[in-house]
Amino acid sequence: MKKIGFVGLGIMGNGMAANLVRKGFEVTVWNRDLSKTASLKELGAKVASNVGDLAVNAEVIVTMVRDDAAVRAVLTGPDGAFKKARPGTIFIEMSTVTPNLVRDMVATAEQAGFKYLDAPVTGSKGAAADGKLNILVGGSAEVLEEQRDVLEAMSQSIIHIGPNGSSAFMKLATNQLAAVTLASLGESLALVEQAGINREMALEILVATVARVSGAKKEKILKENWDTEFTLDLMYKDLTQALAAAEELKQPMPVLAAVREKFQLARQKGLGDQDFSVISTNLTK
Ligand code: NAP
Repeated sequence: MKKIGFVGLGIMGNGMAANLVRKGFEVTVWNRDLSKTASLKELGAKVASNVGDLAVNAEVIVTMVRDDAAVRAVLTGPDGAFKKARPGTIFIEMSTVTPNLVRDMVATAEQAGFKYLDAPVTGSKGAAADGKLNILVGGSAEVLEEQRDVLEAMSQSIIHIGPNGSSAFMKLATNQLAAVTLASLGESLALVEQAGINREMALEILVATVARVSGAKKEKILKENWDTEFTLDLMYKDLTQALAAAEELKQPMPVLAAVREKFQLARQKGLGDQDFSVISTNLTK
């Protein structure tokens, strides 16, 4: 079985790495906060003490970290994987990042003789744990076919979006849509409540109109349960990334710009660590 190095055991990475172990891959993990490696060690993964050590023996290196800065740190940092990996190593970068970051990483990887897929995901904590993510792949179709077994261990669907970087645009577009949908739902709800309409009934109707994203968050909104699956801070980061990506293409996105400010208001109110569905509350109360 392939030797896989897995970097980043946060909410998403933990479940993803566990599924690779369960499917029989030889997995070595690393996380900046090493305490998060304990459950993977129990499952049978090896634990590396730094990214460089993880990279030396890996055939495939999967990264699932916070943002552009984190990817740069683990790949091109002083002790990053690019410094220690052998030529021919395949990098599968699954974090949600900017197209610019992908471009930079691909250029550096190609110079060093590595292969690189950018493969962000849709689906949250539960899908990561259950191996039911949807993976959006940018990069060569040939490399994708070579690594299909690795991706299949973590997913229910794999879509080849196009060349390197295309999936970053696709992923940011899906998050932009998800963010705008819930902010908009909150406004609709506030409006109908002001009009004296029963909250629960109104919510039922509104949720039905935005089936996928709001459908998944319906129970949390109804119960005002903001336990974190995807933090508001991380969604704010992705809105910022989507705006930066649109800026590059001179593509105006006025709703996104306005909604990002609403997320900033929520952050100012101390809601950044809560689930991003908290954006659906009336923040002006
Ligand atoms: P998370 O729980 O906050 O985990 C972030 C991970 O990144 C942790 O392992 C963290 O290490 C690591 N990290 C952050 N900065 C680092 C740095 N400078 N150097 C090394 N490691 C660093 O976030 P998550 O929810 O798993 O999200 C991971 C990625 O998936 C993000 O790009 C997110 O946008 C994307 N995503 C999330 C969801 C979701 O529903 N949660 C869904 C789809 C995609 P420490 O543990 O040491 O802090």
